[in-house]
Amino acid sequence: MRQYLMIPGPTQVPDRVLRAMAKPMINHRGSEFGAIFKEATEGLKGVFQTKNDVLIFPCSGTGALEASIVNALSPGDKALVVSIGAFGERVADICKAFGINAEVLKYEWGLPANPKDIKEKLEKNPDIKAVFVTHNETSTGVTNDLEAISKVVKAFDALFIVDAVSSLGAIDLQTDNWGADIVAAASQKALMVPPGLGIVSVSEKAWEAVKKSRSPKSYWSFEQAKKSYLKDPPQTPYTPAVSQIFGLQESLAMIREEGLQNIFKRHELIGKACRTAAGKLELELFAKANYSSAVTAIKVPFDVDEKTLRKKLRESYGVVLAGGQKDFAGKIFRIGHVGYVSKMDVLAVLSALELALSECNHPVKFGSGVGAAEEVFSHG
Ligand SMILES: *Cc1c(COP(=O)(O)O)cnc(C)c1O
Repeated sequence: MRQYLMIPGPTQVPDRVLRAMAKPMINHRGSEFGAIFKEATEGLKGVFQTKNDVLIFPCSGTGALEASIVNALSPGDKALVVSIGAFGERVADICKAFGINAEVLKYEWGLPANPKDIKEKLEKNPDIKAVFVTHNETSTGVTNDLEAISKVVKAFDALFIVDAVSSLGAIDLQTDNWGADIVAAASQKALMVPPGLGIVSVSEKAWEAVKKSRSPKSYWSFEQAKKSYLKDPPQTPYTPAVSQIFGLQESLAMIREEGLQNIFKRHELIGKACRTAAGKLELELFAKANYSSAVTAIKVPFDVDEKTLRKKLRESYGVVLAGGQKDFAGKIFRIGHVGYVSKMDVLAVLSALELALSECNHPVKFGSGVGAAEEVFSHG
C-alpha cells in the first residue's frame, strides 16, 4: 500500500533527493566532496537567513542541541530554558547533564511562551548566560513568536539559542534580523532529507562564548568543525554522512526552485486547512494559541481509542500519524505537515481520518473535514 508518512519527522523524502543519495561513495577528503559540502553549507545559509557560520555534524537534532550547549556554556553557568513542551524539557535535561544551572521557565503544554515573562526572568537574573527557546514545539503544535521574544532577549547580554529543528525551512526564522546566536536544526524535517545531519548556525557573539567555554567536548567541537571547513578542499573533522550531504544538495536545489517565502506560505495554508477541517469535524485542537504550520495536534475524542484510531489509519489507508508525547500519549494525535507535503497529501489524510473515525464508531459527517480544507485551498 502507498504510505502517507505524516509524522513531524522523519518526513517524506522526495524521489529527487533519494536518487541523489543513491550515488556511490566518494572520498570525503577529496575536491569533489569538498565542492558539494561547500555548496550545501553555503546553501543552508539562505534557509537560515544568515551570514553566520553554518556547521554540519553527523547526528540527529538532539546532537545539534547538545553541541550548542557544550560549545556555548561551561559547567556552573546559568541558562534560562523556555519550555512549552517535550523539546523544551529535553534542552533542560541536556543542560543538567552537563552541569549547566538551568532555570526553567515552564508553560502548560499547548500554550506559547510570553515574552514578558522572559524579560522578567532576565531582569531578575543578570547572570543568565544564555536563553534557550524552542521555535516550533513539535509535541504540542505551538510556534513561539520568536521575533517578539528576540526583541526582549536582545536587550540583554545573554546568548539567544534557538531549537529550530522542526521549523527551519517551514516557518519564517530570520536568524540575523532576530539576532539568534545559535540556531540548531536537523535534516529530517522541513529539509526533506533522511535523518543524519545536525546543523547549527553560529554568530560572532556565539564564537566569543565558544572560546571561553570549558565544557567537556571533543566530537562536538565547533572550533574543530570550522577549522576543517576552512581547509582546501572544505571537509569535516571526522567522516561526514556523505549520502545525506548528497541529499541535502538536491533538497536545497528544490528549496531554491520553490522559493523560501512560497514554502512558508504553503505550510501556513496547509496548517490552516488542517485546523479548519478539525473544527468542522468537531475535533478539538491541543494548541490554545500560536498554531503551528508544521504540525497540528488534535485531542482524541472521548469515545475513541487513540491506538485503535492510528492503527486503522495505518492498516486501512496507509496513513501514518504521530501520537502524543510524555503525559499526552494516548490523549492526542499529531498530523505532521512539514517539508515535502502537498495540498493533496493533506486532503488524503483528512479523508482517511474521517473514515477511520467512523470505523471507530465516532459520528462523522463524511466530507465535512475534507470539504472545509478544500474551501481553504480554493481561497489560498
Ligand atoms: C525533532 C525535534 C528535535 C530533535 O529530535 P531528534 O530525534 O534528535 O532529531 C528537537 N527539537 C524539536 C523541536 C524537534 O521537533
